[in-house]
Parts: sequence; C-alpha cells; structure tokens
Amino acid sequence: MIGGGAAGFFGAIACAKAHPHTQVILLEASRQPLAKVRVSGGGRCNVTHACFEPAGLVQNYPRGGKALRGAFSRFQSLDTVNWFAEYGVKLKTEPDGRMFPTTDSSATIVDCLTKAALSAGVEVRTGAVVVSVSRQLDKFEISLKSGEILQGDRQAMRLSADRVLLSTGSNQIGYQIATALGHHIEPAVPSLFTFNVLDSRLRDLAGVSVDARLKLSVAGSQLEQTGSLLITHWGLSGPAVLKLSAWGARVLHDCHYQATLLINWLPQLNPEVLRQKLLLVKSESSQKLIALHRGVDKMPHRLWQYLVSRVGIGGEERWAGLSNKNLNLLIQELTQGQYLIQGKGVFKEEFVTCGGVNLKDVNFKTMESRCCPGLYFAGEILDIDGVTGGFNFQSAWTTGWLAGQAMGSRE
Ligand SMILES: Cc1cc2nc3c(=O)[nH]c(=O)nc-3n(C[C@H](O)[C@H](O)[C@H](O)COP(=O)(O)OP(=O)(O)OC[C@H]3O[C@@H](n4cnc5c(N)ncnc54)[C@H](O)[C@@H]3O)c2cc1C
Repeated sequence: MIGGGAAGFFGAIACAKAHPHTQVILLEASRQPLAKVRVSGGGRCNVTHACFEPAGLVQNYPRGGKALRGAFSRFQSLDTVNWFAEYGVKLKTEPDGRMFPTTDSSATIVDCLTKAALSAGVEVRTGAVVVSVSRQLDKFEISLKSGEILQGDRQAMRLSADRVLLSTGSNQIGYQIATALGHHIEPAVPSLFTFNVLDSRLRDLAGVSVDARLKLSVAGSQLEQTGSLLITHWGLSGPAVLKLSAWGARVLHDCHYQATLLINWLPQLNPEVLRQKLLLVKSESSQKLIALHRGVDKMPHRLWQYLVSRVGIGGEERWAGLSNKNLNLLIQELTQGQYLIQGKGVFKEEFVTCGGVNLKDVNFKTMESRCCPGLYFAGEILDIDGVTGGFNFQSAWTTGWLAGQAMGSRE
C-alpha cells in the first residue's frame, strides 16, 4: 500500500482482515501517517455524512458520482459508521448531516485507524518515499527514495509485491507513477475554496451569515446553489459557496477565478411578494428612514443598510420618498445582486483536488486498474471529489475498502 492516508489505511486494514494470509506493508512518505485526517474538519474530522442511500450519496460528487454508485452499494456511509463502531468509535450527526466522532477530536480517528492497522497485522513503514513502481512479469518492483529510511538497515530500498495499492492522494509522484504504468491523468485543480470579492464595504460585514440562493455565471455556464452564505474578510464563504466552488472547480480554474455571482438574499420570497411587503412598509412607516427601518424581517440590520446603499439610496431618505425606480432597484438588489468574483481564497477546514487518475482506467468493482493488472487505486488520487460535508473521506473509505477486499484475493 503506497500512501498512509485515509484510503491507504482503510485499504491495508481491509486487506489484512479479509485475507489473513497476506503480508500487508503500508509505505508512508512522511514521519506521521494520516496527517490530513488529523487536521481535517478543523481538527474534529468530518468522517462521513448521514446520507445512507447510495443514490442520494452520489449526488454530492461533482466528479466521480456515477462511478461511485455501485461502489456505495457495497460500502457506504452507514458501513463507515458501523466500521468505526466496531472499534468503539461512536459518530454523532450535526443538524446539517455532517458526522464527527463524539469526542469532537480527529485524534480519535487517527488512533482508531492506527490501532486497527496494528491489530490486523499491517506493517506501517514511515519515512518511506516511493519514487517509482515498475511491473516485472507478475510482480511489482517498488523503489524508495534513498536516504529517507530511518527504520534500520533491515529495510531495503526496493520492495517486491504481488499487488500494489496506489493511494498517494494528490501527490505529484503518485500521478507520475500512475502515468508511467499507462494511466491517463485528468489535470489537478483545487476544489472547495472561497470567493474573493473586491468590495471593502461588503467585507466590513465579515461574520454575517444568511441563507441565500447563488447563481454563478462563468464561461457561458450557469451553476446554482441555495444554502448558508458567510461574508468574510476577503469575500464570500459558507456551504453554498463551497458547493459552487466544487461544481465549478474546473471552469473557474480555466477562467482564472473571474466570474459573476448573483445573490438572492431572500430566496424564500418571490419578487412579487417582496414588492407587496416593501409597499406595505412604505405606506405604514412612511416617515421612517429606509436605511434604519428594514423592509424585510430577519435580514441582519448591517446587511440591509449595505444593500440599500448599493442601490444608491441615501442615509437620510425616508420610505415615503422611495421612488418606483428605486423600489425596482432595491428588489433587484435583494433578489439578484451582482458581485464580481476576483480570485479564490482557502477554506481552512477542508479542501481537496479535482482531477487525478481517469476513472475509465479503473474497475470500480475491485478498484483494480484496467491498464495494469495487480495495481489498485483508492482515495484522492482518483478523479473523484465531493462537496464539503464528509463526502471526500467517504469516497476514500469506500474505495480503500473495496481495493483492500479485492487485493488479497487469490483469484
Ligand atoms: C485541511 C483539510 C481538511 C479536510 N477535512 C475533511 C473533512 O473533514 N472531511 C472530509 O470528508 N474530507 C476532508 N478533507 C479532504 C480529505 O482529507 C481527503 O479527501 C482525504 O484525506 C483523501 O485521502 P487519501 O488517503 O486519498 O489521501 P491523503 O490523505 O492525501 O493521503 C495520501 C498519503 O500518501 C502519502 N504519500 C504521497 N506520496 C507518497 C509517496 N510517493 N510515497 C509514500 N507515501 C506517499 C502522503 O504523505 C499521504 O500521507 C480535508 C482536506 C484538507 C486538506
């Protein structure tokens, strides 16, 4: 197993457990395996998502959903929950469906995987950077970077294996090894990022969070998401933005992260109902200042003031003086305000790579390569990525588990 992340560990444990006759060696480049698990979910590790229907689960993968459909019918979120429960780790569900260990600590998951690997008989070698893998008749020759192994002279710089799992995440060496063995790689670009908006007055509202409907126009395509939107010091974030960034990852990259975003700040109201509401306020509160007396309930005061000012309505204007033209502009601002995205930011809690090994090169029943028998793939090295919410780990658990089950088989 090359790569000691979520997918590599799951694959190694599944293989060693299902096929006790196999000798499973896990090679991890860094000194500390499972580094991403440790930092994941803001240190809490969003292990999976409480969506227990494969058909529903696949809807959350901008790339790879179709290929994962069958895979999830064999190992899905509920299997993940049960798998961890078997090792005494309980998961809890948050209102938005994200599942975390009840300890709220990723260390629980790291410890669990480490102990599970040990008890299954997996040999974990850290500081083992694999630089190449070649096929020699029915065996694989694995070469390690010299000078990197600190675990004693007994370890060779070359290893021979009957079967190999490549689970190196988005690491370049992993892509190079896959390419050398005949696979196609979809170019890697980031997914799950925030949007930069160069509007200092908007950024003054950092911390404001509302439910909104977002429409992204980029290179002639339109993407839409409704959900929580968070204003930040650099622009926009929150689940709705992160989902848009995932679905638009490739096209946004190709457009250098320049796009137009339309925000409906009141997705629950249709524009005609909104018009009637505003006209009612105009007649009932005619002497009140528009900027200080909100026309719609529940919208944060600061956000209302900002939107009113975007229309050009001055701080001294009263409801009585609201012209038809400004009323129309206000409705437009509230329901389809236009914002220019100029660059992307980092969402610290989770990010992932779009691109990787082309899925046509892989048999998703076993995760075995179609180009190189005996070679398997799992996790982020594949051209699979999910939206935020635990879906990325789920694909790592599923593909790792399937590969591990298949790799030890004598057939
Ligand atoms: C900050 C952050 C937070 C995240 N939070 C979440 C979350 O809460 N929920 C969620 O679902 N997803 C989350 N993700 C995404 C998730 O971490 C990845 O989808 C997942 O880790 C992929 O697992 P993997 O095993 O395929 O790859 P990785 O976790 O990247 O593991 C690959 C391993 O291979 C090793 N390796 C690479 N090249 C070599 C080599 N040549 N030789 C030997 N070893 C090598 C690497 O050192 C690494 O340990 C987060 C990602 C980040 C960056």
